[in-house]
Amino acid sequence: MISVSNVSKMYTLESGDFFALKDTTMQVRKGEFVAIMGPSGSGKSTLLQLLGGLDQPTTGNIIVDGIDLTKLNEKERTLFRRTKVGFVFQNYQLLPMMTVGENIALSLTANNTPKNEIKTIVQKLLSEVNLQGKESVFPSQLSGGQQQRVAIARALAMKPSLILADEPTGNLDQKNGEDILKLLSRLNKEEKITVVMVTHDQQAAQVADRIIVVRDGMIVEEGGYRNEKVANRMA
Ligand code: ADP
Repeated sequence: MISVSNVSKMYTLESGDFFALKDTTMQVRKGEFVAIMGPSGSGKSTLLQLLGGLDQPTTGNIIVDGIDLTKLNEKERTLFRRTKVGFVFQNYQLLPMMTVGENIALSLTANNTPKNEIKTIVQKLLSEVNLQGKESVFPSQLSGGQQQRVAIARALAMKPSLILADEPTGNLDQKNGEDILKLLSRLNKEEKITVVMVTHDQQAAQVADRIIVVRDGMIVEEGGYRNEKVANRMA
């Protein structure tokens, strides 16, 4: 599903060149649920942004679902982000002036999906994340856990084969955090969506099949599969 080969990401700072990622190589298989862990500033978010085509590496190649991201132009990368990947962020990133329904429909609208189709899809997604009846409310009228579920519904709108989640439980209390993890886990197991999740929470990482550890811009652990059954499923 994902193949990262010798990827580096350099930022030019006043103090000189700084490598947020250094010659990183890793793979994620279709259907895997991978957690990326590591200290703050180690390069986790940078890696996730590169996987989602939100940013470009300085050197190296990134292939996602057969598409070489380093060969895409700006327009193609926008289309890739909109159609192939569902993004979930720590702070939900919902648009406050739009209703829940409109937020969920963003990429469908951008893709010129007919209005009646959008309505049906939004209803289905709302029930998938257990938020039936909330279509017309605004994000500020919802709890953090509910807002994150809206963000997940939005991420699912284009039927992505990959979800990239950056600290999805970071702003949530224990119970809401667990609900979000259960939801991601169910989407992974039942809908076969590959999930890559950055987290600093050891407990959150336990839902993953595998834990990749990043330190100082380098992968220091690729993680083994948690049990025989998962290993077989991935083989
Ligand atoms: P993590 O997600 O593990 O906390 P990040 O990937 O956000 O780490 O950042 C890795 C390093 O790269 C940090 O030292 C950070 O300050 C630096 N960094 C990230 N984005 C930029 C940027 N746009 N410009 C300069 N430095 C950056």
